Amino acid sequence: MGVFAFDPGDAGRYLSAMRIVLLGAPGSGKGTQAQRLVERFGLPQISTGDLLRSAVARGTPYGLQAKAAMDAGQLVSDAVVLGIIRDRLAESDTLRGYVLDGFPRNQAQARALAAMLREIGKPLDAVVLIEVPYKEIVKRIAGRRSCPKCAAVYNIHDVGPGEALRCRNGNDHPPLVQRPDDNEATVTKRLEVYEKSTRPLVDLYAKQGLLRRIDGDAPTDTVTQRLMGALLQPAPASKAASRSGRKTGRKSAAKRKTASKRKSAAKPKSAAKRKGAAKRKPAAKRKTAAKRKPVAKRKPVTRGKPVAKRKKAVAKRKTRRR
Ligand code: AMP
Repeated sequence: MGVFAFDPGDAGRYLSAMRIVLLGAPGSGKGTQAQRLVERFGLPQISTGDLLRSAVARGTPYGLQAKAAMDAGQLVSDAVVLGIIRDRLAESDTLRGYVLDGFPRNQAQARALAAMLREIGKPLDAVVLIEVPYKEIVKRIAGRRSCPKCAAVYNIHDVGPGEALRCRNGNDHPPLVQRPDDNEATVTKRLEVYEKSTRPLVDLYAKQGLLRRIDGDAPTDTVTQRLMGALLQPAPASKAASRSGRKTGRKSAAKRKTASKRKSAAKPKSAAKRKGAAKRKPAAKRKTAAKRKPVAKRKPVTRGKPVAKRKKAVAKRKTRRR
């Protein structure tokens, strides 16, 4: 434990009740960091990759459908993945919080997840993007080994010379294996798929005010510290306010402070679009609006009706004179 500089009390309680998405390319360390959150805070890790691999190994109907796509480094169909996720999120251990690892991976999955969570009134708290250069990713994936029993992930590059790489979760765990899709050809395909289908989610979650970015090109402990720092930092208020149904009591003061500093909050267009934001922060909005030029320009629009009425009256008078 001792590596973290956080108050284990409050921070721990807060983190153990978060609904988190870890976003990043294959090999960026999502699985490893998700495991850290499991160990430290008891958050269940929901990895669609692990769930799919388990379904394939057990030969379930979902597994049979998923295998070919997984072997080719392609995404498994949304129907299968959403079926698996829906079942998993219905389990009682997810009631408090969880960390999603490898899901969502495209816009359709992100929309479906948002709809599922809206239904139960429990939206996401944070999305953390772990950024790692592609060169490092390829090296990591080539050295990645996992435990066939508990799915714990290790890397041959993290082991000292002469040291055996074994699963640390029990002496009865079998030798580590390399995933069949961790070969060079499939990795290239998976990175392409990430760029095309998953990367657009970065913008999507940024617009929703959920995104936090961390540099994942560092030792595992350092990345864990960055991850926890990112999770504990207040969400950008103006954007977070647009999340439907979220009770913001936990961080309202910090959020308002951040909001008043944000340039984007002063953009008239986006502010006008956010109905929720308008309701929640009338004072801050009025203050910002008073400073904005475009508001003055908009004035004639609000006077439009009387002008039109005056024109009508003038026209009537003219007709009467004739
Ligand atoms: P991962 O362990 O997250 O790297 O996932 C391994 C493979 O499982 C991927 O290359 C995909 O074929 C499949 N997979 C995992 N998660 C998803 C998802 N959310 N949507 C579609 N396919 C997925």
